[in-house]
Amino acid sequence: LGKSAELICVGTELLMGQIVNTHGQFIAQVLARHGVSHYHQAVVGDNLGRLTAAIRQALGRADMVILSGGLGPTQDDLTKEAVAAALGVPLRLRQDVWDGIVARFSRRGLEPTPNNRRQAELPEGAEPIPNPHGTAPGVLCELPPDGRRVIVCLPGPPNELRPMVRDFLEPYLDRWAGPERQVLMSRILKVCGVGESAVEHRIRDIMAEATNPTVAPYAKPGEVQLRLTARADSPAAAEALLAPLEAKLRERLDPHVFGVDDETLEGAVGALLRSSGRTLAVAESCTGGLLGGRLTEVAGASDYFLFGAVTYANAAKVAVLGVPESDILSHGAVSAEVARAMAAGARRVGGADIGLGVTGIAGPGGGSAGKPVGTVWLGLATPEGTWARHSLWPGLRADIRWRATQEALVWLRSYLLFGARAAEEG
Ligand code: ATP
Repeated sequence: LGKSAELICVGTELLMGQIVNTHGQFIAQVLARHGVSHYHQAVVGDNLGRLTAAIRQALGRADMVILSGGLGPTQDDLTKEAVAAALGVPLRLRQDVWDGIVARFSRRGLEPTPNNRRQAELPEGAEPIPNPHGTAPGVLCELPPDGRRVIVCLPGPPNELRPMVRDFLEPYLDRWAGPERQVLMSRILKVCGVGESAVEHRIRDIMAEATNPTVAPYAKPGEVQLRLTARADSPAAAEALLAPLEAKLRERLDPHVFGVDDETLEGAVGALLRSSGRTLAVAESCTGGLLGGRLTEVAGASDYFLFGAVTYANAAKVAVLGVPESDILSHGAVSAEVARAMAAGARRVGGADIGLGVTGIAGPGGGSAGKPVGTVWLGLATPEGTWARHSLWPGLRADIRWRATQEALVWLRSYLLFGARAAEEG
């Protein structure tokens, strides 16, 4: 039921892995939002035979074939030739399009080169789609006999493709997909402070019962995401299906859900700091500013974030934060004592209500039997007390650093929500 579309992204540089196919993700989301089924996606190089075959194959399966890229003026831009070949029609120069290209060049005091004429050629029966951000227009072919099967060609550069999708393709899809379409709408619930298996265990009956919307868990480093997906006649009807399921999951997972969709943990923690009128300072060793960076990515962070220090060297920990040298000598820089002293130092130097400290071994070198790679000590300094907390994660340097910031934010969130007792218990 409903209409289907396939996407063919054209470009040898995509096949060679030189650029990431971001159009694939972008167009897939657009199709889902407009209730168009999407079962196949392809990447094809700049080769006329293979591209023509791919278009024919897609036309055999789908109501709409969307192509991206290969509309430029050069010899390896073959998308229109391939569409014409797949349809068995010639390419024809469109005078109005060519006049537009000439005018565009002359506004910039330039003359088009002969190969720009290629950009004014369209497969017979096709219409140009205006491209205010580039020379090559898009192409719309509504196929005989009734024009309900369609080929759409979009330019490759994202700054041309995205506006064309917004201004042309989305309104077109709305009309074309018709009333029988089913809208797919997803919402991501973000959960922290519990692992994936614990989350699944808590909600397994809800997951088993949920067919529309469905629930699918994804484990991320230090975070679990639940994707809720509803299928319905309209966005409003999909929303009406999602809301009660979201409420049920939130109730079951309370207090671990910190946000939905684009909301971040640092944003959620920032909102708690702001609403409680408290301020924060951080001292980082192994995360080298990642924690401060995440916290200050949130607009308006200066309301509550006062100070961040990256103290890699022991001497810097002593000089800037006042970490006792004796603690470093007797327990090592990665220890409960030093994590606590870093947190307390950040709090004092920054003049903040709360201090966070991070010290650890991100690897790949620097580990030992007693303190293997992945060992992280966090410190939390508050008016009620100063505590330290130990973690050990597997993974690569980038994962360990990310996990350390994630864990620090989760701990801070728990203190802000539930106070000293919760923070002390970890
Ligand atoms: P031009 O007129 O610039 O030649 P075009 O329509 O021929 O445009 P391409 O040459 O295929 O487009 O691609 C131009 C650029 O757009 C690529 O170098 C790349 O940076 C970007 N691009 C193309 N396809 C994709 C894609 N699928 N995902 C992300 N970026 C892409």
